[in-house]
Amino acid sequence: MNTRVDDISDDYATRTPNNLDALWLPFTANRQFKAAPRLLVSAAGMHYQSVDGRQILDGTAGLWCVNAGHGRREIIEAVQRQSERMDYAPGFQMAHPAQFELAQRLVDMLPGDLEHAFFTNSGSEAVDTALKIALAYHQANGAPTRTKLIGRERGYHGVGFGGISVGGIGANRKQFRNQLSETDHLPHTHAPAHNRFCRGEPAWGAHLADPLESLVQLHGAETIAAVIVEPMAGSTGVLIPPVGYLQRLREICDRHGILLIFDEVITGFGRLGAGFACEKFDVIPDLVTLAKGLTNAAVPMGAVVARKGIYDALMTGPEAMIELFHGYTYSGHPLACAAAIATLGIYRDDELFARAADLAPYWEEAVHGLRDRAHVTDIRTLGLVAGIELESRPGKPGARAYDAFTTCFEKGLLTRTTGDIIALSPPLIVERAQIDQICDTIGETLDEVA
Ligand code: PLP
Repeated sequence: MNTRVDDISDDYATRTPNNLDALWLPFTANRQFKAAPRLLVSAAGMHYQSVDGRQILDGTAGLWCVNAGHGRREIIEAVQRQSERMDYAPGFQMAHPAQFELAQRLVDMLPGDLEHAFFTNSGSEAVDTALKIALAYHQANGAPTRTKLIGRERGYHGVGFGGISVGGIGANRKQFRNQLSETDHLPHTHAPAHNRFCRGEPAWGAHLADPLESLVQLHGAETIAAVIVEPMAGSTGVLIPPVGYLQRLREICDRHGILLIFDEVITGFGRLGAGFACEKFDVIPDLVTLAKGLTNAAVPMGAVVARKGIYDALMTGPEAMIELFHGYTYSGHPLACAAAIATLGIYRDDELFARAADLAPYWEEAVHGLRDRAHVTDIRTLGLVAGIELESRPGKPGARAYDAFTTCFEKGLLTRTTGDIIALSPPLIVERAQIDQICDTIGETLDEVA
């Protein structure tokens, strides 16, 4: 029986729904979930509250996105003010001032000549936008044959057709096939045989960038538009770039006129103990994709930031011509801009990126303290990120980590799993005692799961 809820009241937001059927959940085993739903109803600071009134410590900043912690008053009030002032403004041949303010503040945070921001609503849209900008750039630059896009095995670049084509996670493509034929992939950098239990960047593996040179020989540089990588691969289970690997990718791209795109949807905004991975690793890409921490996830928003030369190359031709035939109804949405400006202010005022860097050694020590626990085969840490890899149950990949995830949730800790890897990325406001709680809970859980 479905009880109707008064449209005015939002009582529906805090109680278990009577009927779960109508909703089709994303990236979720729907039938398994609906048999035992996990519902969150409120959030503040480092905690969620579940529908049954339990406090859940957030070990994952939501989905790698609530970097400043939940329920930040500055963001709430900025969104409320903007919502009362103006709900929406069209973004094509029109604009509103907050977009310009945000773009300026954002590019001021980024290194080098990453100077022009294009707004989207998600990481997936940012990725597809960056790929399209790369193609448009080469066309504007007199190299229209450069149309191939190179990704990397185990890469995650969201769910658009562009993103899944350059992405390298088989499960994300096999239902849809690869619709972008002009793609190829570099090998991934996961090499536990050499780098097991590595703290920070592994020493072994810079040469794993060299296959890019082979792809250039195979396809011809004149056919390749761009290479896209996550500087640290997050969704595939925290794969940290080997020392010198990203530099080598940059060198090969430069040698052959190929654009380098860093997908910083996860690594942006302090996650690695620096503002951005490109800063941390001192490698400036041509395009950066951002989302998640940009608004502290309070309102959906993504962005692509381009180097000056890319923007300039497109700002040619007749002035009345639209230079890039691309955009979203909600590009630069006023509420998202308000949330982002407030979020960037919090990062600055609370010095959260430096805080993450200061906490990183404690985090590393605590998480690596789990290395002798049951089932653990590898641990990787960088900034405030960790990947804990478990031995798979024979014939049931992912099952052990999934059980660990549900057991942790019952014990009041939100974790994330991908395959048999537990991925951790707490908000950057996490306290040491909470780091201990995260690690103690996971340790106990690993002893309990079969
Ligand atoms: N790129 C990377 C590196 C990501 O980690 C994600 C999401 O986790 C995306 C793109 C897609 O972002 P969204 O889910 O906002 O579309």
